[in-house]
Amino acid sequence: MADANFTTTETGTPVASDEFSLTSGTNGTTALHDRYLVEKLASFNRERVPERNPHAKGAGAFGELVITEDVSQYTRAAVFQKGATSETLIRFSSVAGEQGSPDTWRDVRGFSLRFYTTEGNLDIVGNNTPTFFIRDGIKFPDFIHSQKRLGQSGLRDADMQWDFWTLSPESAHQVTYLMGDRGLSKSWRHLNGYGSHTYQWVNAAGERFWVKYHFISRQGVVPMSGDEAERIAGADADYYRRDLFEAIENGDYPTWDVQVQVMPYEDAKTYRFNPFDLTKTWSKKDYPRIPVGHFTLNRNPENFFAEIEQAAFSPGNQVPGTGISPDKMLMARVFSYPDAQRYRIGANYNQLPVNQPHAAEVRNYMHQGNMQFLFNPADARVYAPNSYGGPAADAERGVEATWEDDGTLVRSASALHSEDDDFGQAGTLYRDVFDDGEKARFLDTLVGQFESLTVDRIKDRFLQYWGNVDADLADKIRARVSAEASVSDDTTPGAPYSPKPEADAE
Ligand code: NDP
Repeated sequence: MADANFTTTETGTPVASDEFSLTSGTNGTTALHDRYLVEKLASFNRERVPERNPHAKGAGAFGELVITEDVSQYTRAAVFQKGATSETLIRFSSVAGEQGSPDTWRDVRGFSLRFYTTEGNLDIVGNNTPTFFIRDGIKFPDFIHSQKRLGQSGLRDADMQWDFWTLSPESAHQVTYLMGDRGLSKSWRHLNGYGSHTYQWVNAAGERFWVKYHFISRQGVVPMSGDEAERIAGADADYYRRDLFEAIENGDYPTWDVQVQVMPYEDAKTYRFNPFDLTKTWSKKDYPRIPVGHFTLNRNPENFFAEIEQAAFSPGNQVPGTGISPDKMLMARVFSYPDAQRYRIGANYNQLPVNQPHAAEVRNYMHQGNMQFLFNPADARVYAPNSYGGPAADAERGVEATWEDDGTLVRSASALHSEDDDFGQAGTLYRDVFDDGEKARFLDTLVGQFESLTVDRIKDRFLQYWGNVDADLADKIRARVSAEASVSDDTTPGAPYSPKPEADAE
């Protein structure tokens, strides 16, 4: 009824005006007891929840996962049985930029997936890279600080980024990826996603396998040039967000093929390198990808804030037949993600519609806390065990991923495998995977990065770092920066770049 469409307070009482506060006379003071004015301003003041620290800028959509292949020999998970379909949520994001930052700044892209399965929510919270900058979660806050802003000026800073990277040689593989064509994509639709970590699958007989998830874009992997990205960053900061939203609105639904690499459980002990090291990929020649199915995004959120900003992913959200591995970054994230969501959204964040399971039920004895709005029947007991017919844990259903370790508490990196190095795969990516065109663009990007550095000891380490990836590459960078220095400084024609002593740095 149109005439019943009147404004109310948050508690449903009709309000008199959205235009005029209650004042003492037309020009008098405002009455504090104008509860609607106070409620309206207080609500406005609380509209923002803290943005995610990394991955603040993003957007997402819903869709459907369809399993087309039989992988039951590797996993008993209902979500991955042939013919199964699951509602799907994805959130794409940049890593470093804050809310409002331009989408087309060069960055790794977050690729967070949720499958609402009949055995609970399965979250695979990865990136568009199969690797990462570090291999131990204890370095994560330092890494993100180095990519964010300086304490004093609040500015981003190339010296800070490269200081961290060149002092953290395990970053070389991921930085090679980032500075290559895949660091700038035409859109979120034109990139592959990776679970990145090693996960575990368990089949119905209890046999265990290590797996890597790959999500291959049917739109193709299409890069964007640096010049184009810079232009778009000024013209449309929300370029990727707009592209995804409009494609789905127009019925142009993007699809990714789901594939896995599967490593038999015992192989992990003797593989060439530590298969739980997030800075490495498993060669496809050793473990070819196996098709599983595909997912298609076909529905935009009805409300960005409620369904995307408050979407709370966690790599710990596993289901029977899937699990984590002894990847140190992954184990840190299993703690850190729910912790971040409790801070951002609140203790009962999993009760929000986007975070509730959609195809399974919640039954446990956790209750109360800030903003609880789901509750058990009045006669339900709130403790276990009880003799009133409440839910009971079931080890048969709650299959967990397990593994053996030697039980010694240490703080160290694995060096048990013959190729546990930092630079080998970065060199392979540059030499054997990049084609000539990408090699040339990569060199341009690195020269640009070098020229943005101001501290000599970081410049020196930059050249050493790329020399460790590929000696010829470092020579090429040296030659280019020397040539460009000679053009811009005609008092020292042709002078090669020569490092200054440490003392004058910073
Ligand atoms: P392969 O030749 O079998 O695989 C190379 C893979 O690299 C391709 O299949 C493709 O994976 C990916 N790729 C292709 N072009 C680029 C590019 N321009 N930038 C980044 N990645 C690209 O060799 P290996 O499996 O032995 O791997 C060699 C190197 O390839 C690794 O060191 C790693 O850097 C990179 N790589 C490996 C992946 C893996 O899972 N084995 C995955 C991605 C990269 P995709 O189809 O997934 O895009």
